[in-house]
Amino acid sequence: MTVIPDKSGSDSGRTAIPSALKQAFSSLSEHISGFQLRDKQLEFAGACNDTLTHSSTLLIEAGTGIGKTLGYLIPLIAYARRNQVRVAISTETRNLQHQILQKDLPLALKALGLTSEEFRAEVCMGASNYLCIRRMHRLGKEIPPDRAEEFEKLLTFHSENSIAMRTEAPVSPQLWSRVGRDPEDCLGRKCMYYDHSPYFLARERWRQAHLLIMNHSLLAAHMESKGQLLPEFHAIVVDEAHGVAETINRSRVMRMGPAELDLLARSGLIQNPELLQAVDAIKKELQHVFRLEPGYRVRIRKGLKLSLLSGFMEACRHTLSMVDERMEQEEDLFSGDEDKMQSENMLELQFQKNRLNDAIQFFDSISLDEGENHVRWAEGNKAGIDLFAGPVQSGPFIRERLIQSMDATILCSATLKTGPDFNFIRQGLGLEPERNGARTESRKSHDDGSNEKSVGPRASNASDVPGGNLNEEAPYYPELEDAFSTDFDGLARSDVNGNHEAPGHPSDQDASGTKQESAATVPAVQELSLPSPFDYPNQAILYLPASIPDPAQNEQIYNERCAAEIQHMLGLTGGGCFVLFTSRKSLKQIHDLLRNYLEESDFPVISQLDMDAGRAIREFRKDPSSVLFGLASFWQGVDVSGDDLRSVILCRIPFQVPDDPLVEARIESEKQQGRTPFMTIQLPHAILRLKQGAGRLIRGERDRGIIAILDPRIRTRRYGKTILDSLPPARPVSSRRELESAYAELWESAGTADT
Ligand code: SF4
Repeated sequence: MTVIPDKSGSDSGRTAIPSALKQAFSSLSEHISGFQLRDKQLEFAGACNDTLTHSSTLLIEAGTGIGKTLGYLIPLIAYARRNQVRVAISTETRNLQHQILQKDLPLALKALGLTSEEFRAEVCMGASNYLCIRRMHRLGKEIPPDRAEEFEKLLTFHSENSIAMRTEAPVSPQLWSRVGRDPEDCLGRKCMYYDHSPYFLARERWRQAHLLIMNHSLLAAHMESKGQLLPEFHAIVVDEAHGVAETINRSRVMRMGPAELDLLARSGLIQNPELLQAVDAIKKELQHVFRLEPGYRVRIRKGLKLSLLSGFMEACRHTLSMVDERMEQEEDLFSGDEDKMQSENMLELQFQKNRLNDAIQFFDSISLDEGENHVRWAEGNKAGIDLFAGPVQSGPFIRERLIQSMDATILCSATLKTGPDFNFIRQGLGLEPERNGARTESRKSHDDGSNEKSVGPRASNASDVPGGNLNEEAPYYPELEDAFSTDFDGLARSDVNGNHEAPGHPSDQDASGTKQESAATVPAVQELSLPSPFDYPNQAILYLPASIPDPAQNEQIYNERCAAEIQHMLGLTGGGCFVLFTSRKSLKQIHDLLRNYLEESDFPVISQLDMDAGRAIREFRKDPSSVLFGLASFWQGVDVSGDDLRSVILCRIPFQVPDDPLVEARIESEKQQGRTPFMTIQLPHAILRLKQGAGRLIRGERDRGIIAILDPRIRTRRYGKTILDSLPPARPVSSRRELESAYAELWESAGTADT
């Protein structure tokens, strides 16, 4: 078999790959019809193999089409077999987990001459995804007549599936929420259903597996448990790694709202009327203090002073002492330690004790001023006020609990670089060189044709970084600076879509001084970027219409021009289009402007405002002229290959809203460290999102179409060039006439190639 050199002309095979692995890749042609071994896939696999062999850490950006899943699976399996250890893969989306398990893993095993019995893999999910038989039977005693039929389906489903899981269950989310496993309500070994419990049966299979596949949220929970939640694994591939730091950080944010407070007062063996009263009172006081409509939120910078808090805390402590007393009585009933631990009452008392301690700790901390690397906010919901508290960023946590605890870590994605470097992603992972003294072994850009590695502390001199250092060229953006300071009484008030409720006032930003980051040293981190093998100039058009005005100047005119451009593109392509927005408000406004046109032209229109993402994509695939109006979940992880998707329209550069409390806190933290947050946080984040969004269009060698970005700032602002340099090298056009002729050529050349 011959190895196909990539079209970019970069040299191949810089990373030597053992002949056995190369042979395994070559043998894929026996199992995949039309398979062509590419040097970029081999290079990717070689880098993964190096990392695993030398117990290091690798950041690897691999453009769409390289074949990265097989590229890491084959070396990972070989490593696990060689060292007789368990390994793991973490992904952002369930789609990718299923693709790995059902498509790529069987191929990788065949390539290595292994059977699925010799190398076992399991998808691990969070506890609430598994059926709790005890809760199911308890619910069966009180099921209302209108739910009886659905409940029957659940019983049948369980009888046919020993590991009954939410993803396959034929029941509504409402019913599942009452029968899924709740760790706070699980009796473990004491449970009469323990031997048949889906969760514990699944855990047994995890223990037997050589490869565990999970999502980033479960990985975060495993890290939080200090490695106790899942069976031990020695090396991990974090795929779709562009979002892992954010997912881990957000999963560490604690919520205390009406649901948690009700649970605190109303469940558990010890019922204390004093606590019940105190909970009702504190819920009312929170509503009175914050007065937030559902979806609106407000930052809590200063210690929260509630007049009823001391009474509430007193009731919690009193209940806690009642729980302790009851535990002592329970202990006296048993002689052996094992019996004590297996007492159902003791377990329930322990759960109640944990809940009370958590609540006391939460309210203790929220009554103090916001501390270093902490952020708190209140958010309105239909039932009252939710309070949130969590870290601003989790870099050191990720470095210590994940990267330093693994023998080898590979973090890969089609989008990791923002501009010329990996700095943004490294910052989120706690691998930022100048903060932590992390060493970088950076394989140079493939365009330079060299094979050099630079080893040692990363140079801060811009001349050492291809394209220069973003910080050094940071321009000043007054319109964004203004947006950062929209506080009201020291509280940034906005809804979750970033719509301000009232004009802001200067902030009462607390001046807690410069943050001190952990000075821990991390092992050398290697970086590698491999461009996509697709022929973007001949497969895709990048349309940046010159006629679009700045959305910040007149939103109404901006929306009207956007609607006109979308209408023109739908006419040109005959539908087959994703129109992606950064907010619900914007989606609704532009959809409303197009409503008449869409009705007259008979395009099947799918809006994410009307259905969840899963159903929306299924509907889209039914008709090649469909038009999908989508939000954040469609900017990444959605795969429609072939001619069904002919254009992707991105409305506005997806800057994070600075009044998201977490984003706002990060911006403040960057400023305190003398950085320009727009350049270190907001622009890199927007670039990653744009790269992901634009990446929806070309998923295969024969795909073609238009990527349109309806935001003039990409042409008029200095940072626009950094964004453009990060996007796939599609053919740029800026007028409708150019677009029409380029689109016609695209299909003519495709027709020629097809014949
Ligand atoms: S062991 Fe726990 S999850 Fe399983 S059936 Fe019993 S209570 Fe439910």
